[in-house]
Amino acid sequence: MAFLGVDAPPGESTRRRVPIADLADGTPITVPVAIVRGVRDGPTVYLQAGLHGDEQTGIEICRRFLSELDPADIAGTVVVVPVANVPAHLSRTRGYLHEERWLVDINRIFPGSPGGLLTARIAHVLFTEFVMAADFTIDLHSALDGCDIVPFGYVDPDDDQGGSLALRERVATSLGTPYVWYKPRSGLIGTSDMTHSLGNQADAAGKPTVTIEMGESRRVTVSLVPLGVRAIHNAFKVLGVEEGEPVVPTPPRRFSTFSLVHASRGGGLRLFVDLGDEVSAGDVIGQVADVFGDPIEELRAPASGFVLRVMRLGAVNTGAETAWIAQ
Ligand SMILES: [Zn+2]
Repeated sequence: MAFLGVDAPPGESTRRRVPIADLADGTPITVPVAIVRGVRDGPTVYLQAGLHGDEQTGIEICRRFLSELDPADIAGTVVVVPVANVPAHLSRTRGYLHEERWLVDINRIFPGSPGGLLTARIAHVLFTEFVMAADFTIDLHSALDGCDIVPFGYVDPDDDQGGSLALRERVATSLGTPYVWYKPRSGLIGTSDMTHSLGNQADAAGKPTVTIEMGESRRVTVSLVPLGVRAIHNAFKVLGVEEGEPVVPTPPRRFSTFSLVHASRGGGLRLFVDLGDEVSAGDVIGQVADVFGDPIEELRAPASGFVLRVMRLGAVNTGAETAWIAQ
């Protein structure tokens, strides 16, 4: 079976860049595809990173993982697209900077469209050629531009309408990440509508996925790469691609919801908490100061929980999501 026309014989691996579109000067836009085919029968697992162009840690996890994956050691087929959204990767922005309609978030428009905008066409290729062709998809993400986030896997959705809850839960809780998010089936993540995310649309199509989140935006969070590589190996052990038991030092802490701490004023951001810190409802977790240094707003935790995501930018506008507190 080929993936976007790329295949590998049993016991071998193939790496290729497949052209799917053109830039204005004729430069091909490609999808980088690696196929690693085991000698034994097993599932087909699709691993991707770089759906968002401002996220780098997942890409480095894929690179490291691929470099140590030997076809002789696996059952089934591993398909890796380390940079799923090449135009956005090149412009280093969440969506492609030069898209016709300005920064389309590809993870809000799945399953894409073969006749739509460039980003919609890329979504369509990823969904039809890889997600639908695989038995299981693992999608690697990092924090939004300017932010940092704790490492966690998603059980998304946290119900069994698609019939794959037990498997998705087993994978997500075996990753070895310190947290796992049981995400209720709702359209929203923070303030963003997730109805057309890859995970939601794949679930509706009967295809199980697990999303893994770790690392700061824009740069590779080097300290987390080993955790990420181990998380993929752990997932592959659960899925039967690799042999052995997952390495999970401590069971992940589960959360199901989170509260957003918005800034009401614009200015310099001073956060007094960091990732993983425990806070109680009403705690002052930071302040906004005006350009002269005078505090103009106290930021308070709206609920008790731990700090899931923080803003790393030094300056914010009114409305900025300065922190997420998870419960
Ligand atoms: Zn992302």
